[in-house]
Amino acid sequence: MRSRRVDDICVTGNGSMNVSPESVAAVVVIIVIVIVIVIGYFLSRRRSPKEKSFRCSRCSAVSQHTSRTINAWHAGKTKFFCGSCHSEWLRSHPAARASVRESNGGQRSGCLGVLACLIFIPITFVLAWLYASQYL
Ligand SMILES: [Zn+2]
Repeated sequence: MRSRRVDDICVTGNGSMNVSPESVAAVVVIIVIVIVIVIGYFLSRRRSPKEKSFRCSRCSAVSQHTSRTINAWHAGKTKFFCGSCHSEWLRSHPAARASVRESNGGQRSGCLGVLACLIFIPITFVLAWLYASQYL
């Protein structure tokens, strides 16, 4: 009983000895990556038009911004179209409809793919590094 306690203390003592500058640096790197991702996420979420509504460039009706017009605003467009004008335009341009949908979907999954790479590649490297330094 008594000797087992001593063993436990020795194990925890060895465990704290294993905290090398490299693993501390790795933890710092992880924290920095997480902070950068969180800040980037909030900045990208906040970036939206100041006005919640816009005047349609075609029929001059005032309508609320949607994810579609906010995307257009992000792309640097200054002219927006209300929902009905947009759907009417899509009806008269069936080819454009497919490409618009494709480019939107592609852009979104591309962003997610890049984000996933940015998150997972450094974390994988750091975890591998931590794992290696722990068992070397
Ligand atoms: Zn309109």
